[in-house]
Amino acid sequence: MTASPARSRPAARYDIDALLRDIGDVPVTTDLQRVRLRSRDYFWYSPVLNAQLHGKSADVVVTPRDEADVVRVAAACWKHRIPITPRGAATGNYGQAVPLEGGALLDLTNMTTIEWQKPGVIRCAGGLKMNDLDAATRPNGWELRMHPSTKRMATIGGFVAGGSGGVGSVNHGGLREPGNILAARIVTVEERPRTLELRADAAQKVNRAYGTTGIITALEMPLAPAWPWIDAIVTFDDFQEAMKFGYDVALADGVVKKLITPMIWPIPQHFGALKDHCPEGKHVVFCMIAEPSLESFKAILGTRGTITFEQPHDDSPGKEPLYEYTWNHTTLQWLKQDRTITYLQCLFPHDRLIESVTEMWKMFPDEVLPHTEFIRFGGRMTCSALPIVRYTTAERLNEIIALHEKHGVMIANPHVYTLEDGSRHKRADADQLGFKHEIDPRGLLNPGKMRTFVPNASS
Ligand SMILES: Cc1cc2nc3c(=O)[nH]c(=O)nc-3n(C[C@H](O)[C@H](O)[C@H](O)COP(=O)(O)OP(=O)(O)OC[C@H]3O[C@@H](n4cnc5c(N)ncnc54)[C@H](O)[C@@H]3O)c2cc1C
Repeated sequence: MTASPARSRPAARYDIDALLRDIGDVPVTTDLQRVRLRSRDYFWYSPVLNAQLHGKSADVVVTPRDEADVVRVAAACWKHRIPITPRGAATGNYGQAVPLEGGALLDLTNMTTIEWQKPGVIRCAGGLKMNDLDAATRPNGWELRMHPSTKRMATIGGFVAGGSGGVGSVNHGGLREPGNILAARIVTVEERPRTLELRADAAQKVNRAYGTTGIITALEMPLAPAWPWIDAIVTFDDFQEAMKFGYDVALADGVVKKLITPMIWPIPQHFGALKDHCPEGKHVVFCMIAEPSLESFKAILGTRGTITFEQPHDDSPGKEPLYEYTWNHTTLQWLKQDRTITYLQCLFPHDRLIESVTEMWKMFPDEVLPHTEFIRFGGRMTCSALPIVRYTTAERLNEIIALHEKHGVMIANPHVYTLEDGSRHKRADADQLGFKHEIDPRGLLNPGKMRTFVPNASS
């Protein structure tokens, strides 16, 4: 870490020199270019956010080594009224880790300790990368119940604070479902910062709160049995048939799976490395199936479609697992070649799932291209979706969102950066606003992201 001389910085909005004096030997980066680079996440997926968040930057990056460092930084930021934006790997899509009002970017990626693990549970620091977490639990027969498709880059703290679900949600639902976060330990931002252990329901106060309700220093996460997974691609002539097959596998409780992702052609056209397995004009379903369930999986398929790819799953360094073509990696694969598209985040009604997916597909032919993800939501099997949208204007995007909502499809709008406007069905049922008043009365944690928060007058 470098602490370049204070005089190399332009006149800051805050007394950063006083902060640096108070935090002593906690590692920092003040080099402007590096601070700016690390103040970005993947908000550029959205043309709307790209215009709004461009150029936003912290004044300093602080990299705590342990919880004691976090407490020191929180106390100093309180004293000098300096905003703190927690940061994991900065893979969020809505500018969650972008410091809107500058201040200190708190890079938690050096806090990676695994405190303990036992069958079905791990307790670790918030900065641990999910791939490292799984690498530590798999030898004991366990792995994360669910992970985002960014598992190989992202941290568990960033997932809990900024994500929602992903690979594995077909079995366990999203992070918002009771039991999917067992406990979170946080540091508050007050004159004398406290450490709080939030267990069971209370842990939802930090779930998808974008770091506005406490700095997560440790998490207790439930695990699932680690199967030998098979990555498989199945192709279909008809998209509706691909959806129906995915639904049949999703509902087959005896078939152990982790991922079922139907995508319409031409989306697979953008999967360069998988070109040979995604024939021209064919719709696809990408799956992860437990090896012992493969035969039953094939029996459900019969002659409805064709398996074009079947390989043992491997997400170790240097490999490219199939899940890096699903969830929001699907959008990324297309964006790598063409920046004119964007995406939405949908939740379809469980009681008329196939009808609703078909209705939306037919409503926006060639403008909104279906990419669905089977998930459980509130105990029911349904589909979340991240369709590709051929972007024209912000007005048209809002019209598309309104039409989905009018037809009973929930939208968690990925083109806004506040919790209240964006998170919708992905949010946990917890009083995050009330909790913020208790643990961050000055509103120094990631200011601007919780729109309804007004700092306590006396703070
Ligand atoms: C290609 C791509 C695919 C994606 N797929 C998925 C997906 O399948 N499912 C999904 O849910 N998301 C997905 N995402 C979004 C994102 O990758 C995940 O949510 C990821 O888990 C975020 O982790 P991170 O370490 O990058 O967090 P960051 O982006 O660094 O942070 C996310 C938020 O959490 C806060 N935060 C980070 N660490 C802490 C902490 N220790 N304490 C308090 N607050 C903290 C930050 O302030 C920020 O608001 C995807 C993004 C991309 C670019």
